[in-house]
Amino acid sequence: MSEPMVRITGLRKSFGSNEVLRGIDLSVEKGTTIAVIGPSGSGKSTLLRCVNHLDPPTAGSIEIDGEPMSLRPDAPYRRQEAQLNRMRSQVGMVFQRFNLFPHRSAIGNVMEGLLVVRRMAEPEARRIAAAMLDRVGLAAKMDAYPAQLSGGQQQRVAIARSLVMEPKVMLFDEATSALDPELVDEVLTVMRELAAEGLTMIVVTHEMGFARDVARSVVFMDQGVIVEQAAPQDIFVAPQHDRTRQFLRKVL
Ligand code: ADP
Ligand code: MG
Repeated sequence: MSEPMVRITGLRKSFGSNEVLRGIDLSVEKGTTIAVIGPSGSGKSTLLRCVNHLDPPTAGSIEIDGEPMSLRPDAPYRRQEAQLNRMRSQVGMVFQRFNLFPHRSAIGNVMEGLLVVRRMAEPEARRIAAAMLDRVGLAAKMDAYPAQLSGGQQQRVAIARSLVMEPKVMLFDEATSALDPELVDEVLTVMRELAAEGLTMIVVTHEMGFARDVARSVVFMDQGVIVEQAAPQDIFVAPQHDRTRQFLRKVL
């Protein structure tokens, strides 16, 4: 079997005395999508933030494409920073809130990482950013500012901004939860296309239809542990655990 793109082993995360992740083991095969579902407060966002090293794990390990996502605490600060930036550029993340720079155009937002992190020349960055905005259906909106865009359009800019960095894995944290209902589909459509193209993705979502259609496997989390992980046709039709059953009864 090939090396998974993401391998999470024995992951624990505490905030003070509150242990939020209590031993997570999870692998994501290359080119597949995993959906993470579970009640509010179960640790889904913290899990994604640990994968991206926005929150350093308390214990356990995370590997991306065989490479550990961990800092060497003995290394000089500048070296740690450089390592962190390099690790983060391998992991794209899209949040519920779009976090675009309000004073930059759509293409300005998408170019930012190429210019600053990759130190790419402006014409090259502009060419790549334009192609990516076209890819998410926003060719006509390149020069629009975030305030002039709908929530769905802003979220697609945020996705394009992550994708231009060519991440090995994309993390989506309730990427459609803040959107008006009529704008959800345009974002899910882009995510479906990315999955079909073979991007590796971990998707925290309330969209059970998306999970059912797109995910190779569905992870149900509760109180900081993975209660159950199974193929969508199994977990939605015949969940093995009471807690999964209770949760699904509420959301399906
Ligand atoms: P979910 O995304 O499943 O709703 P979260 O990962 O956001 O869950 O939160 C899990 C638990 O961790 C919650 O009890 C939350 O209050 C706590 N938590 C999350 N982030 C922090 C933080 N930065 N400081 C302290 N507690 C946090
Ligand atoms: Mg969350």
